[in-house]
Amino acid sequence: ENSGTDLKNLRVKLVLLGDSGVGKSCIVLRFVRGQFDPTSKVTVGASFLSQTLALEDSTTVKFEIWDTAGQERYAALAPLYYRGAGAAIVVYDITSSESFNKAQYWVKELQKHGSPDMIMALVGNKADLHDNRSVSSQDAQEYAERNTMFFIETSAKTADNINQLFEEIAKRLPRPTP
Ligand code: GDP
Ligand code: MG
Repeated sequence: ENSGTDLKNLRVKLVLLGDSGVGKSCIVLRFVRGQFDPTSKVTVGASFLSQTLALEDSTTVKFEIWDTAGQERYAALAPLYYRGAGAAIVVYDITSSESFNKAQYWVKELQKHGSPDMIMALVGNKADLHDNRSVSSQDAQEYAERNTMFFIETSAKTADNINQLFEEIAKRLPRPTP
């Protein structure tokens, strides 16, 4: 379900998808705990965390976040996580064009099997490693536009654009009508 019980307090199931190692777990930990742990463990299966964000209009959004493992052996489980999700974050690493290709695979999966009104974000993470960039912002932006997603580049390491990412999702969520 996209929205929770009342008009001012929304709730959304959010799923993170993307290749292993692109920084999905670090994005979640940065958002939920305000921390970056460079020795973070590989996610096994999926993990769940929640975080509530207060918006300027005094609405709150409770994100119920499913952080999935990118490994092939878990790919068959992914539909369990994006089923019923109101929002999805598809992550790639700006230094890896292979991870950008993998992100496009996940976008297609979501288009085929996800809810049609799902809010989708395309996230180029590790923006702090811009000296080793191999995916241009323009290519990613154009891809996102063609697929009705919004695009943002983040760094879980420096915290750059992490809150903005979740705020942009929150703003786009359908509001229940009174
Ligand atoms: P996941 O498999 O997608 O969950 O990736 P992780 O969150 O486990 O991160 C994989 C690796 O990338 C770890 O070594 C992190 O320290 C590193 N990492 C994650 N986010 C960033 C970032 O924004 N910048 C840099 N430089 N490294 C990052
Ligand atoms: Mg992980």
